[in-house]
Amino acid sequence: MLLTQQVVLNSRPGKNGEPTPEHFRLEETSLVSDLNDGEVIVRTLYLSVDPYMRCRLNEDSGSDYLAPWQLSECLDGGGIGVVETSHCSTCSEGDVVTSFNWPWQTHAIMKGSGLQKVDLQLTDGHLSYFLGAVGMPGLTALLGVREKGHVTKGANQTMVVSGAAGACGSLAGQIGRLDGCVRVVGICGSDEKCKVLVEDLSFSAAINYRKEDVSAQLKKSCPDGIDVYFDNVGGAISDTVLAQMNKGSHVILCGQISQYNKDVPYPPPLSEKTQEILQSQNITRERFLVLDYMNKSEAALFELSQMIKSSQIKVLETVVNGIENMGVAFCSMMKGSNIGKQIVKISE
Ligand code: NDP
Repeated sequence: MLLTQQVVLNSRPGKNGEPTPEHFRLEETSLVSDLNDGEVIVRTLYLSVDPYMRCRLNEDSGSDYLAPWQLSECLDGGGIGVVETSHCSTCSEGDVVTSFNWPWQTHAIMKGSGLQKVDLQLTDGHLSYFLGAVGMPGLTALLGVREKGHVTKGANQTMVVSGAAGACGSLAGQIGRLDGCVRVVGICGSDEKCKVLVEDLSFSAAINYRKEDVSAQLKKSCPDGIDVYFDNVGGAISDTVLAQMNKGSHVILCGQISQYNKDVPYPPPLSEKTQEILQSQNITRERFLVLDYMNKSEAALFELSQMIKSSQIKVLETVVNGIENMGVAFCSMMKGSNIGKQIVKISE
């Protein structure tokens, strides 16, 4: 019998509550040793914590594509691991596999048919990248910019990114620049993040929303106005950005994390003033959902891999160790302690 550690939902923060590590509980359980046909035993290597999980902490996720997590049940999300035993014809021992619904367990029994084998060459051995830059956040950044950004080479465009030092934001800004924006300005929550954006990722400027006057700094760093806004955060920051957008400009409505601990629908309603600005400036603001573009994911993952290998984009990660830290990692990511993709390393 194989013993495994797992993280279950201990309690819910409630619709308007802030998640804390106490909402998660570590348990030990055993896996049955007899596998059914089609099943595999996997050892987990890395797990992902992501903002959308905040919805799954509520009794009603408020979304038609996300099921709420259940109390005392094992949680799940993006994960990657290695097949240790296989009773599945499409998986072999030693295969590295990934899934959007990986249980938060050190070892797990999974159906082989629900796993995707990864091409190790795509990340030159950086397995955690499959949960970040060459995974869902990378796709979100690339396809978000391409599908909703209207970035055009030679058009002298300025892009602003909020949540700019996070998993999606840090990539979106770099992709915007590669695709032709002449100026890319990031908004984020610390001086350290600002420094990384400008010095390591070649953003034109970065604004610390926690201590700077965002409106004044945007005016300074975007003298020609804003043409593309990759919005990860919503709320007051986005109202400030929208007020400085040019006529006919475009918002990539990626996420609204500043509102996730509030009991509001998604996307949260805009103020009347901001709605008027959108209308009078003829600004497009269409919701973007990466899951709607999975038919483009293979080509996009390959392109992301090429961009990384050729050093056209840099990848940032914050890695914590140990399954016991899943809850801590999720909560600290929600509060901004991560630079780049927040990853939890479960085993070597
Ligand atoms: P990040 O790596 O960006 O981590 C979240 C970041 O959000 C934190 O680091 C923090 O950075 C910032 N943040 C938290 N609270 C606030 C707040 N009140 N105001 C401003 N910033 C805040 O996460 P991801 O890159 O995974 O996700 C970014 C966004 O993209 C989220 O809104 C997410 O829901 C969305 N998303 C959407 C997808 C889609 O298909 N549309 C797919 C994947 C993600 P800081 O220090 O700057 O505050």
